[in-house]
Amino acid sequence: MTEQQFISLLDSHQQVIGQKFGRWTILDIHQGSHHKPKRATCRCECGTVRSVVLSTLYHGKSHSCGCYQKEKMAQVQTKHGNAKTRLYYVWKGMRERCLSPANKSFPNYGGRGIQVCAEWRDSFSAFQSWALASGYLPGLTIERRDNSGDYCPENCQWATHKANARNRRITLAMTAFGESKSLGEWAEDPRCVVSYDTLHNRVMCLMLPPEIALTTPSGTLPHAPQPVIIPPAP
Ligand SMILES: [Zn+2]
Repeated sequence: MTEQQFISLLDSHQQVIGQKFGRWTILDIHQGSHHKPKRATCRCECGTVRSVVLSTLYHGKSHSCGCYQKEKMAQVQTKHGNAKTRLYYVWKGMRERCLSPANKSFPNYGGRGIQVCAEWRDSFSAFQSWALASGYLPGLTIERRDNSGDYCPENCQWATHKANARNRRITLAMTAFGESKSLGEWAEDPRCVVSYDTLHNRVMCLMLPPEIALTTPSGTLPHAPQPVIIPPAP
């Protein structure tokens, strides 16, 4: 509706009553004084009744009491809600593995000296920014390229859960003395006399029997071959 059409409608007072502008329906017109803009009493579709400056109606500046914008915002938030929530739990889980001794995975992370870089540790939004810029999609899990390295932008990437699980299985599981547990847990075991890195190298690169890898002190292995670099899991 043009302003001209609107003004002609205004002239015939009764025709303006009941007109709809967006979600507003005009209930009544206030003639107002010379210096004040003309206002209308309007009812929004949601039931809110309010006095609205008439010109904002015909200029299309007011469509509703604000409920329309709120609904739009809620829709946008719901659309991205799952991704945001899931990423938040990725961040929370990472922090707890490294910072909370009560977490059951702590011995394999914080207990081994693996840290979360200060930027990510202190700010979910910093972690989120990195995640979205580095290809995060729902369903992917965070993976450290170097398993003994920290959680930080230089050492992390997104992987499918399958690839991550395979990587973990290859690099971390070991059976010795009739017990099967992760390499990280073995490194904490009193029977292990070497560091995690040495143990990892002996088992994964030198292919030593687990019991020998665990119990032989550093520097006493004769003619140890050069370590072989294992390529990261796809
Ligand atoms: Zn409303």
